[in-house]
Amino acid sequence: MSITVDSFKTNVLPTWCPGCGDFGIWMSLKNAFVELGIGTDDGVVVYGVGCHGNMYDWMKIYGVAALHGRTLPVAQGLKLVNRTLPVIVVSGDGDGLGEGGNHFIHAAKRNPDITVLIHDNQVYGLTTGQASPTAKGGFVTKSTPEGVFDEPVNPLALAITAGATFVARGFAGDAPGLTALMVAAVKHKGFSVVDILQPCATFDKIHTYQWYRERLYTIETAETKIKALEKAMEWGDKIPMGIFYKEEKPTSEDHEAKITNVPFDLQELLSEFI
Ligand code: SF4
Repeated sequence: MSITVDSFKTNVLPTWCPGCGDFGIWMSLKNAFVELGIGTDDGVVVYGVGCHGNMYDWMKIYGVAALHGRTLPVAQGLKLVNRTLPVIVVSGDGDGLGEGGNHFIHAAKRNPDITVLIHDNQVYGLTTGQASPTAKGGFVTKSTPEGVFDEPVNPLALAITAGATFVARGFAGDAPGLTALMVAAVKHKGFSVVDILQPCATFDKIHTYQWYRERLYTIETAETKIKALEKAMEWGDKIPMGIFYKEEKPTSEDHEAKITNVPFDLQELLSEFI
């Protein structure tokens, strides 16, 4: 049976607010699956906790609803036991870079062949609008009535310096561009990260679709990490998007396949759980 966008339909309707950027990301991911030939039985999506995670209910594909911030341990476990399985993590800026920040750094270091899609809207939307780790200075939210005063986490710079081998930024309001980035990220062999600028229509009246459209421009992939970092640090009147950095490097699965000196019987250890 051919794979179409409708293949991923469930009988649950989305509960996201009208105008939420999650719709564009969801649409782009389905388009990417169609383009990649990944059907409902051919891959797995691991979801974090947050508005993004509700996608689990209306996306028909193998899925795991992970604990808050714990998408990457689950995703790496899946990859460990099935090296050919496409594993996609759908996470939020809070889930992935706050609660899951440590996992993000250490997964990037290992370079497993996993794709991470970050719904980056600068707020914890599901808990009604508190500042998230990527919230920019001055942003007034319920948890920051005087405006955010601490440094925002920069997902791109963090991913590049931690060792991710494919680092990109997309926009929820640009489905064709975002689909292309997702396709490239999943095809990449190694830890691929797509930070997706996602307007939260309910709790962020500043970073709207129009606000982003007036600033976003597309870049060429940098040749060095330093040049990629320079671009990653740009945020103001102009905001770059596209593939910032890419390199070919052995994955954690490549390294693990070469390990022969295991000082215990793994089968025996696992037997009580199987
Ligand atoms: Fe989307 Fe924001 Fe509504 Fe959550 S609260 S569904 S992120 S618009």
